[in-house]
Amino acid sequence: MNTENTPEIDIIKASQSKISQVDFDNLTFGNTFTDHMLVCDFKEGQWQKPVIKPYEPFLIDPSAKVFHYGQAIFEGMKAYRDANNQVWLFRPDQNMDRFNKSATRLAMPEVPKDIFIGGLKQLVALEEQWVKGGKGNSLYIRPFMIAVGSGVIAQPSTQYRFMIILSPAKSYYSGEVKVIIAEHYSRAANGGIGAAKAAGNYSAQFYPTKLANEQGFQQIIWTDDATHTKLEEAGTMNVFFRINDTLITAPTSERILDGVTRKSLLDIAQKEGIQVDVRSLTVDELVKAAQDGSLKEMFGAGTAAVVSPIKGFQYQEHYYELTPQDQPMALFLKEKLTNIQYKLEDDPFGWTV
Ligand code: PMP
Repeated sequence: MNTENTPEIDIIKASQSKISQVDFDNLTFGNTFTDHMLVCDFKEGQWQKPVIKPYEPFLIDPSAKVFHYGQAIFEGMKAYRDANNQVWLFRPDQNMDRFNKSATRLAMPEVPKDIFIGGLKQLVALEEQWVKGGKGNSLYIRPFMIAVGSGVIAQPSTQYRFMIILSPAKSYYSGEVKVIIAEHYSRAANGGIGAAKAAGNYSAQFYPTKLANEQGFQQIIWTDDATHTKLEEAGTMNVFFRINDTLITAPTSERILDGVTRKSLLDIAQKEGIQVDVRSLTVDELVKAAQDGSLKEMFGAGTAAVVSPIKGFQYQEHYYELTPQDQPMALFLKEKLTNIQYKLEDDPFGWTV
């Protein structure tokens, strides 16, 4: 791996690797971590020297602001190994830019490129053997930042910790999911933090999602908070609707996370000559399209599962099931995107690094 933008980093190696104890064929997503992590502290108004050290717990003051005021942000990205044994990142600058937008929105300091990208490249290079070959295998990368400054007073911290941890992932197929359209709860509001990858956006969804799970639905499709009439996104995925042969997805806004998978699929679809319409689809339109048969597909798009086909949706006590398609657009787009990520096809966009 090319390690340009490399800052000076102290590296403390683990005395022994855990890799031989890991069953790579039976990984649960996000539960196994590699031998090392990157840690970089911000204090006295400056980022300190990053260190790569053995993955381990660390001490933090009980009054640290992350526990009380939720100053915490994160990213999710992946490294892939191609057939020539080289390891690649996919559009890491997009994740860094989104991370720093999240940081600004949460009154946290931005992380400079040499630490975010440079540190990431060095960490992934050190953990290279954890990136297994074969389509579907990847190393999930979780950069995050928390407020570690102490004091139970509701003010932004002056001390932060930026970290990167890595988790090997198997290709996972989420199964076809059934979703429910939100009629009461909201994930985000105008002027809020919906466009940030802030920890609180996820905890706020746990309770409504638990209620949805109890009713037999795996995910909620969020609607706009003001009227609950416009379809927005799912909990950890952007959503696409195929009506006849047009692919529709909501525009990004203050309420929607600007997904890297979403924007990549839009670019691929356009290049492949698929008609794309970036606009807010209303719940009424969706119901009508389901009733008259013009709704062909719905799917979620995000780094973890890439594309997650949706089997049907519930709205106002009524369940609408989609007819399976012989040649789903979701799978065609997934194939195209993963072929670029695993270097099985040319990358005309220059996305792999
Ligand atoms: N929306 C939300 C709320 C998410 O958490 C994610 C996952 N990051 C996405 C969409 C998809 O974004 P990406 O394609 O960058 O993973």
